[in-house]
Amino acid sequence: MTTVVKKVKKGDMVMVLTGKDSGRRGKVLRILPSEQKVLVENLNMVKRHTKPTNTNPQGGIVDRPSPMPLGKVMVVCGKCNKPTRVGMKAKEKEPGKFMRICKRCGAGLDK
Ligand SMILES: [Zn+2]
Repeated sequence: MTTVVKKVKKGDMVMVLTGKDSGRRGKVLRILPSEQKVLVENLNMVKRHTKPTNTNPQGGIVDRPSPMPLGKVMVVCGKCNKPTRVGMKAKEKEPGKFMRICKRCGAGLDK
């Protein structure tokens, strides 16, 4: 089995590269690996009709984020504050493990 290193992770800040939300940023809420999609807070919003629930007895239309292809977003580096390609670097203290780094400034992207 090969080790798949995910370049985008839950909690990352990402920027949208194309489409109506191009240039906007948001936090990754969920990764959908089987679909190669990512759900980002407040981005790619669509109107959804909801059924009445206990918290919303009327039901109705709400804006919800919709998953978008992973290829449409780029991770924003917390240090240089720019969207960047993600590089990999071996961890000094944990041999065999890798950390994600910013290809622009080399800062680690994992908290
Ligand atoms: Zn950077």
